[in-house]
Order: sequence, then C-alpha cells, then structure tokens
Amino acid sequence: MGRGTKVIKVGNVEIGGDNPVRVQSMTKTPTVDVKSTLRQIKSLAKKGCELVRLGIPDKDSALALGKIKKKSPIPIIADIHFDYRLALIALEQGVDKLRLNPGNIKNSKYISLIAKEAKARGVPIRVGSNAGSLSREILEKYGGVTPEALVESALSEIRLLEENDFTDIVVSVKSSSVPLTIQAYKLLSSQVKYPLHIGITEAGILVPGSVRSAVGIGILLYEGIGDTIRVSLSASPEKEVEVAYHILESLELRQRGIKVISCPMCARAHFPVEKVAREIEKRFKDFPLDITIAVMGCEVNGPGEAKWADIGIAGSNKRVIIFKYGKIVKETTWEKAILELEKELEKWKEVNSN
Ligand code: SF4
Repeated sequence: MGRGTKVIKVGNVEIGGDNPVRVQSMTKTPTVDVKSTLRQIKSLAKKGCELVRLGIPDKDSALALGKIKKKSPIPIIADIHFDYRLALIALEQGVDKLRLNPGNIKNSKYISLIAKEAKARGVPIRVGSNAGSLSREILEKYGGVTPEALVESALSEIRLLEENDFTDIVVSVKSSSVPLTIQAYKLLSSQVKYPLHIGITEAGILVPGSVRSAVGIGILLYEGIGDTIRVSLSASPEKEVEVAYHILESLELRQRGIKVISCPMCARAHFPVEKVAREIEKRFKDFPLDITIAVMGCEVNGPGEAKWADIGIAGSNKRVIIFKYGKIVKETTWEKAILELEKELEKWKEVNSN
C-alpha cells in the first residue's frame, strides 16, 4: 500500500503499488473434486475473497485445474510442491498464478523451464521461504531460524527467477512466530520492491489463530508492509476471509458491507447487546453499502459513546432507541427493534445509493 511495490497482475486482479490490500484464501477440498472445489471457490468469492489458492498434490489435481479455471469467478493460484512437471501442467491448464513451495524446487534447469513457460503466458510466481523450509546451509550459517535466514532464503529464490529474466514475482517469508515473521518482513521489504504476500502460518484454531494473525498482519500493514494477505486458520476458508476483512477494516484500509461495533456492557446495560449484534451481523451481512452500526447496552450513554457511528441501536428495559450520529431518530419496542432498524437501513440505502 503506497510503498511503491511493483504491480503484478494475477488474472484480472492487480497486486501491489497503490492497489488495495488483496484478500486471498485457500480451498480445503481435494482439488480433483472439481464440483466441491468450485462450490467452495464460489462461496469464498461471495465473501469477498479476491484470489484463491489450490493445493496440487498430484497430476490428477493439476489436470483438474482447467475445468476449475473455466468456471471460477476469481483468479486461481496453483500451489506446487516438489514436482516441476505439475507446475508445467498447471500452466497449460491456464492457472493465473503459481506458488512454488520453498525448498522444494531447487534445480535451476527446471526453474528455467517454469519461468519460461510462465513468462510466455504472463503468469506471475510467488516464491519465498517459511520456517520449515530453510536449507541446512542457511540454518547452520545463522544458527537456526532467524529473520535474516528467512530473507536470505527468499532472496536466493528471487535470484533464481531473475536469472531467467523473470520478474513477475510475489514474495513471502512466513513463520508461525509473530515477532519472527514481523522482523523478517520488515527486513525483506527494505530489500525488495516486489509485492509481499503476508500472513502467519499455522496460526491455529479460530480465536487464537485470528488474534495471532491480526497482531502479525496488522502490525505489518500499519507500517505499510504487505500487498496481499492470507489468514491461515484451522477453520473454514470462509472464516479466513471474514477475519482478513476484519483486520483490514480495523486499520481502516478496506471495508466490506456493514461493520457492527458493540459496547462491552456494564452494570448500566439493559439490553442483550451480544445477541442483537450477532443477529444484525447475520441478517444484514449482504447489505450493499459500507456502514457502521453500533449496538449499545444503555440508552443513557450509548448514543453519546457511539456518536460517530452511522446508525445505532440502544436499549433500556422499557424501550429501544435507534439513533444516527448520536441523535435519536426512532423509539420502539424490543420486539420491533430489528425490523425498525431494517427500515432505517433501507432509507439509508435510498439516500446513499446514488
Ligand atoms: Fe455500559 Fe451503556 Fe457504555 Fe454499554 S453503552 S458500556 S451499557 S455505559
């Protein structure tokens, strides 16, 4: 974001330069199962996923890419381990980007072959290291996994491509340690102008994984580092995309649809804040405008505390109020609260759609 990285085109999506930070995820279905994979890709695209990566463990998976590509609403990235032939098949099948897994494809003859084919098709390649893929020499040189070791390994992979006159490169230096990942990306971004794919690997299950990802990715993005993000969770890929947008939204980099904020509740609360906030998130998740909705536990302090929110709802044990920028616009009952909020949102849409 604005740090002058090179712009790379992945299908019809640009990464890097002044483009918005792109959200990507990875399918969790067997790639050979074209039907389920496409179903998952379409569901991810609906959530706002802009690029999707597919694991290619064998030849049949590589051969399935053509069919998937034909019907995918978003660009697809083939994730290749070990076998250069799978990369060549993936290119023939029309993928939009390759991810060559670190430490696996070392033979420069094969790299040349892949670079030549990718260049002819205008397909970019992501390279880079992760903590588990460092070579013995690098580990010995640095005495273990360090930011310098990760960066040196990534730079050597970049060099392999550059030697083949290939520069449509995206780079990553991931690990599951947040401080290590941050230091590695800071070092890397001071040395290359290629767009950076950032994330914390093996971040964990939903709540701890989201927090680790938010801290790692958030700190980097705040410092202007990172052009595309992937939140890696032991959860559905749709959750990964949801968390990715929450991170971008928290930093005010991107917003997608409604943003629900809610108070933590205290002794003054007379309103089931969490339940109402969840219901609003679910019910209005496809609302087409960026809008911040506040759910507050009491009507005495709620409107004032959330006066910067576009619209808000707060309650007492007798009534519910709806407010805009802190000013009450409607008074209603608990039963009708969501319905009245919906009417206000419809009005908002009418006024702000043009
Ligand atoms: Fe407490 Fe009311 Fe503030 Fe919520 S809005 S934290 S209930 S004072």
